[in-house]
Amino acid sequence: MSDHTQVKQVEMNYKKDRPKTKNPLKIEDLSLRDGHQSLFATRGRTEDMIPVAEKMDQIGFWAVEVWGGATFDTMHRFLGEDPWERLRTLKRYFKKTPFSMLLRGQNLVGYRNYADDVAKLFVKKTVDNGMEIFRTFDALNDYRNFEAVVPVIKESGAHFQGCICYSLTEPRLGGDVYNLDYYIKKAKELEAMGADSICIKDMAGLIAPYDAYELIKTLKANVKPMIHLHSHFTSGMSPMSMMKAIEAGVDIIDTCLTPYAYRTSHAALEPFVMSLLGTNRDTGFDINALADINEILERDVLPKYKHLLDDTKISVIDINVLLHQTPGGMLSNLVNQLKEMDALDKIDEVYKELPRVRKELGQIPLVTPTSQIVGTQTVNNVLFDTPNERYKMITAQVKDLCYGLYGKTSVAIDPEVQKKALKGYERGETPITCRPAEVLAPELEKAKKEIGDLALDDEDLIIYALFPVTGKKYLLQKYGKEKVPDAVKPITLEDVARQKEMIEKAKKGELIEKSKIKEVPEKSGNVRTFNVFVDGDYFEVGVDEIGGPPVITYATPTPAVAGAFAAPAKPASPLPPPPPKPRAAQAAPATNKPAPAKAAEPSVADGTPIKAPMPGMIIKYEKKVGDTVNEGETVVVIEAMKMENALPAPVSGVIKAINSKSGDSVARGDVLAIIG
Ligand code: MN
Repeated sequence: MSDHTQVKQVEMNYKKDRPKTKNPLKIEDLSLRDGHQSLFATRGRTEDMIPVAEKMDQIGFWAVEVWGGATFDTMHRFLGEDPWERLRTLKRYFKKTPFSMLLRGQNLVGYRNYADDVAKLFVKKTVDNGMEIFRTFDALNDYRNFEAVVPVIKESGAHFQGCICYSLTEPRLGGDVYNLDYYIKKAKELEAMGADSICIKDMAGLIAPYDAYELIKTLKANVKPMIHLHSHFTSGMSPMSMMKAIEAGVDIIDTCLTPYAYRTSHAALEPFVMSLLGTNRDTGFDINALADINEILERDVLPKYKHLLDDTKISVIDINVLLHQTPGGMLSNLVNQLKEMDALDKIDEVYKELPRVRKELGQIPLVTPTSQIVGTQTVNNVLFDTPNERYKMITAQVKDLCYGLYGKTSVAIDPEVQKKALKGYERGETPITCRPAEVLAPELEKAKKEIGDLALDDEDLIIYALFPVTGKKYLLQKYGKEKVPDAVKPITLEDVARQKEMIEKAKKGELIEKSKIKEVPEKSGNVRTFNVFVDGDYFEVGVDEIGGPPVITYATPTPAVAGAFAAPAKPASPLPPPPPKPRAAQAAPATNKPAPAKAAEPSVADGTPIKAPMPGMIIKYEKKVGDTVNEGETVVVIEAMKMENALPAPVSGVIKAINSKSGDSVARGDVLAIIG
């Protein structure tokens, strides 16, 4: 046993008042951000954090992560919640524990680089609303993307935590890109920028225990700031890696409360508290107080989220991560993207193509947004490439990456791929080498003009500036100008109980019988649809609340679950969709109107259709009815898996019809426009 973890021969108990050590391990709790982001598709609601907030505040965490990453996006888009309000609300309950957020560098909490004026205002308003620690990362580890935000963080007196995204090209630490020298160099860059702490951000759970030991030891010997380890459980290695990191002298580790731990989330806190009891890294945490919190979560909160757990597998460890070194979330995205395209049989080809695409795109780390960029391009290559031509459909984000808009890649991008991607690229065909945001024009004034009076303050303005389409929709709902769709309303424990009851009935066959013997009442506008899974079968059940107990109006056995994923326009469900569903499918209920019906398809005989090659959301049409287009010119831009794909005109002609508009969800094969 290393002397760092020597058990003291002193009297002790489980309670908080046991002898204090000189160097207790510091813990950041991730339950309220990365925990529910990893396990429950970021669907955690503020109202479900409040019951444990005050108790969590008493534990003694170094920080609690409550914001950032995907929460900002998900809250306004799927939960009908104001992200700023969450910060202010939680602050009333957490009186002493500092708040931490995940900031995607110049990407803030979105998926692209925003202009400097947006970035600066964002950080300033975030501090104003109660944020204290900014865990800042850049997907390419290009710290020029920190230059706009870090001075604002430091000037506001907040804590700047600089991240190094942990990446590998071999099964273990080493090789010629991501080796110890690389991490030392990056840590020194962060130290020079004034980092108050440095975080190894192992977003995919790739760090192996002995590599963690070596890495932490080396960093501790080379830089002064505190060293923090963030890892995901996904591969099963993280608790072992954390333990070795503790032996190597890591200052802070990330954990989750047990109900939010394991699977693609994080190591659980409680086993560390017990393992370190009486050692010189004793956390000092009261294990009984933690048990109390977990009991509340188990009883009052988690039943509302259970349906979001990916229960397609029994294993809690994702062996694929060990095999392919790609983040778990990215793999499930790929699988779902293929499912939506009825091409799941191509998964092995995707696994094969993925490292190739990654290498060609500069051997970049795989983390939001680069994991989506590489993943979606890989799927596009597998589905649309021909034996004579690779990169047939290049996403807008890959073009941006090739231009240098995300920053400098770890190694040079393949020149042929780069040339092809930049052919006809709107910003120019020669890539830039400067700090990416330098080529971005200020965005705030334009956003202000566009959103007008709908934004009452800077917080509203930022929601719109970051997410123009969904942000505007949310603001319309927030100020009562648009109806809040049922799909964003919370479910209650009563809903859960009702659903359980229905499953019981369905198992006994009572659901179907009832609709047969009774005259079926007319469906009211209040009907809410539940997906009910009974053993291998799947039922779509409509529940109409008419004042009394719920009346079951219909229960339709639906074919395979896989078929349900492909169904384009399902009625709005009160339960948020399960996590593996990609955003294209999730966007449908939130639009508050049915997705374009198949019947609306105009007669294709009049011209050549442009069909959606994948399910997604319309970003914009570049042409309108009556416009002349040349073959190859972009007609419509569709977003799928958070990536934008420009769809070119297959022939020259005149736009005869346009069938959707910005914000609409479309299914694969939907006709988006007709060229005659
Ligand atoms: Mn994470």
